[in-house]
Amino acid sequence: MIWDKKIKKRIIGLYGDIMSENLLIVLAAVHGNEKSGVIALENIFKYLKSQLPIFNGCILALKGNLRAFDENKRFIDQDLNRMWHEDQLEKVRNTASELLDNHEEKEQKELLYVLEQFTIHRQKSQPFLFLDLHTTSAPGGLFTIVNGNDLSVEMAKSLQVPLILHLQNVIKNTTLSIFSKKEFSAIAFEAGQHEDPKSIQRMEAAIYILLDQLGIAHFNKEWMSIHHKNLEEASLNLPKLTSFKYKYHIKPDEDFEMLPGFKNFDAIEKNQILAKNKHRDILAPYSGYILMPLYQKQGEDGFFIISEE
Ligand SMILES: [Zn+2]
Repeated sequence: MIWDKKIKKRIIGLYGDIMSENLLIVLAAVHGNEKSGVIALENIFKYLKSQLPIFNGCILALKGNLRAFDENKRFIDQDLNRMWHEDQLEKVRNTASELLDNHEEKEQKELLYVLEQFTIHRQKSQPFLFLDLHTTSAPGGLFTIVNGNDLSVEMAKSLQVPLILHLQNVIKNTTLSIFSKKEFSAIAFEAGQHEDPKSIQRMEAAIYILLDQLGIAHFNKEWMSIHHKNLEEASLNLPKLTSFKYKYHIKPDEDFEMLPGFKNFDAIEKNQILAKNKHRDILAPYSGYILMPLYQKQGEDGFFIISEE
């Protein structure tokens, strides 16, 4: 494959043979202010190149929103992780970049091109795993969301961090949906808070575990036990399997504000005050655990409530 400029500027790293059976594609910074994934991946490629483990496959890592990354913003015009539905993909495929309405559509067009260049030749008999790395504005956000096929669930469980089922049906049109119709597997990994250095270590741990589980790389036992222990300890006391119950959608100009002090997976009671807007207090409609309380200016999802399976 000849790499043009569009491909080159998005590649964080490529290790192994891209045509091989076993492929892990990792995306970082689809939200530009979530920098940990890029650092974690740079560390991974340094390790692979210096330690040369037994390798039977390929890892390809891509950067998502280039301009938002440079400007340290979640996005410029539109959330790039909420626009991966088929009509939109057709639009960006068939429209010249200079005619696209907003900045994220231009990013999406390029990113889609790169993803398709690397995956279009693959058959169902050559499954691959797509991993999208994220961090959250509130502390304690360590969990996975899957696109729901068997391998995605099996691989997410192997990380031993909380797995939240059915959230992909509610947080619609994320990068997970690019692969959902093709029977390829996709996992979103939320590693913790944006600026917490532990988020970087957890992302590295997840990638090493997935490389090992997929049979792409073989690492020594000590190395793997460090990473398993890292995620296990970080997930102590967190519910391992939950499912989506409720989402608070922020309306334009309502001046939504979370009450301070919520962490991900804090237990909440029905009718507890969670947030307010310019009209009223916003109460929990259900008991459960709170997830992704929004402590930043940009975004439409105020908070989620999940409950144990
Ligand atoms: Zn994110």
